[in-house]
Amino acid sequence: MGENQVSLTTAVRYLKGVGPKMSQKLKKLEIETINDLIYYLPSYYKNFSLINKIGLAQPGEILTIKGRIKEFRNQYTKKGKNIQKVILEDESGQIQLIWFGQPFLRKTLKVNSQIACSGKIEIWNGAKAMISPEYETNLQEMIHTGRLVPVYPETKGVSSKYLRKIVKQCLKLIINKIEEPLPSFIIQKYQLMPKKTAILNIHFPRDLVTAQKAKERLAFEEMFLIQLKILQKKLNWQTSKIAPQLMTKKNKIQQMIKKLPFQLTNDQKKAIQEILQDLEKQSPSNRLLQGDVGSGKTIVAAIAAYNSYLNGWQTALMAPTEILAWQHFQNFKKLLSPLGVKIMLLTSKKKVKTFKDSSLPNLIIGTHSLIHKRANFQNLGLVIIDEQHRFGVAQRALLVYKGVKKNQFFPHLLTMTATPIPRTVNLTINGDLDLSLITELPKGRQRIATFVVPNYKRQAAYQWIENQIKKNHTQAFIICPLIENSDSETLKNVKAAKAEFKRLKKIVFPKLKLALLHGKLKTQEKEKILKKMQKREIDILVATPVVEVGIDIPQATIMVIEAAERFGLAQLHQLRGRVGRGNRKSFCLLFSESRNSKIINRLKTLEKIYQGIKLAEIDLKLRGPGEIYGLRQHGFPKLKAASLLDLPLIQKTRKEAAKILSQNPNLNHYPILKEIVSGKKNLTLPN
Ligand code: ADP
Ligand code: MG
Repeated sequence: MGENQVSLTTAVRYLKGVGPKMSQKLKKLEIETINDLIYYLPSYYKNFSLINKIGLAQPGEILTIKGRIKEFRNQYTKKGKNIQKVILEDESGQIQLIWFGQPFLRKTLKVNSQIACSGKIEIWNGAKAMISPEYETNLQEMIHTGRLVPVYPETKGVSSKYLRKIVKQCLKLIINKIEEPLPSFIIQKYQLMPKKTAILNIHFPRDLVTAQKAKERLAFEEMFLIQLKILQKKLNWQTSKIAPQLMTKKNKIQQMIKKLPFQLTNDQKKAIQEILQDLEKQSPSNRLLQGDVGSGKTIVAAIAAYNSYLNGWQTALMAPTEILAWQHFQNFKKLLSPLGVKIMLLTSKKKVKTFKDSSLPNLIIGTHSLIHKRANFQNLGLVIIDEQHRFGVAQRALLVYKGVKKNQFFPHLLTMTATPIPRTVNLTINGDLDLSLITELPKGRQRIATFVVPNYKRQAAYQWIENQIKKNHTQAFIICPLIENSDSETLKNVKAAKAEFKRLKKIVFPKLKLALLHGKLKTQEKEKILKKMQKREIDILVATPVVEVGIDIPQATIMVIEAAERFGLAQLHQLRGRVGRGNRKSFCLLFSESRNSKIINRLKTLEKIYQGIKLAEIDLKLRGPGEIYGLRQHGFPKLKAASLLDLPLIQKTRKEAAKILSQNPNLNHYPILKEIVSGKKNLTLPN
């Protein structure tokens, strides 16, 4: 394929040496186009840059030698192993090159030809040798030896050697067509390498410093483009849409707050203020309220909904599960019904009640059925989404747009999450949202004493739980092992929970009242169980890992988590937050049968650290972002050069992106940037 026909979007299939078969294999590495290939970055480099004469090479050294093939022999060892033995010589001496079971090498390693070899010098049968070295026959253009050699993440049938060859070929064809998207003032300010140089040097660097600079440059560009795109989205949202201005009804709100049985925390007050300020604006707000479980987000949301009602607008509240919707319904009724707010519960199981116009609901609470059912939105002013990460971006947007059809106005959007999200993640994945944080827990909350319980202490722990329940009239949760990791209930999880429930009931706690809660139960069934739990008619609630989110049983003080090692730290932290909501001392027991000290130490972090965000940051370092935040679900691209751990990079690219957009919101002065950000170029950016 000639240089002229190739573009970044050309399929790799058309490269020499690729073809249909290899392109299938490359697809497994997510390499489909030329652009994918040049952005397939090495994970590290082997340093073969030291070149020496054969005679001077010493055993133990890692280096490159060049010479003439004097001899090629296909042999069998005494033990019957097939080996290939080459004698390589230069003017200073000779060395043996040994391969195992590769007789076809005879075709490439021709006697009298010149080759280069890289590897470690060893002793074989009493003489100097290299065992299975990297080698190369084209000495004009060395890519496997004699330099820093890139090593790529491999898959079956796709070796680094193969990747090097096609990357090299590809770079030759495409490098002159690579445009510089970064404005020159940014390149100068941050002393970034030009893009072309960076692409060449990330694959075939002169030295490690250059490789590092190349990576930094690509990371900068990647994060900068993400920030541009996400900030532009935010800007568009704010400038192109009109929201109802919901003025803060100070007196009424203060009266409501006064009647609460508790004092708001400072963080709650601040969040309320930020949200009420949002609602007064004519552009639709889009805010994320982030606070640990039990930090009191519900009251904050209730005040926002109340204010919307006071302005004569409807509020919709969407929760991820029917239980949660039901629970919110109960809570909001208690808080807001006495103030005149008409509240309606809408779940998939319940029929939609059509209200006569005179009795339109002011607040509609439901699951995703809010999107699909004929909910009665006449003048939706505010959308609140609880546990927002459980919904896709698309679902959230649907609910917002559903409100729009009727009244032209865009509702304000408040999303809430108890998932501790590291700052870096909020500045990228959630980069278009404004953020309110509740970091302090309400007064009187005690630390949930947390213990990792090894197998040999399991019986004693069960005994202790039974005693606590009998003597202290407390209640416990037991969370069953996580079999399948998923945001919705899976059959496998339910099955495991059923078995565990049976065992606990029959063998471990025959004298106590146990109940099982899982996501496949009918809503009414679930509600019944939760009501019983609230009325203390159940001692121990056995639950699947999924069903737990958001349930509020303040008098329960014991949380047991089975097979704790299968959860992320932040997830465990969220689970333990189910207890410790009242004023009594609470406990979290993390059961693990693992004997791996690394795993146990990871779990022990929970004995020491009680801040969700800190735990989330540790998770992010240990497990990477993909696992935890469902980046794909967010439509967020896999990062190639940049890292979600790199706060300084995120901050500086965000700053520059914001500056550019403030001066030139439509990016008309930056045509290449504009094209990339609008998605016309083949680059993966969040949508
Ligand atoms: P979450 O942030 O997990 O949604 P909730 O809103 O369910 O937390 O609040 C947990 C419990 O704490 C509720 O029973 C609520 O009434 C109570 N609560 C909320 N704010 C305060 C406060 N400032 N002081 C004491 N208790 C509070
Ligand atoms: Mg909640």
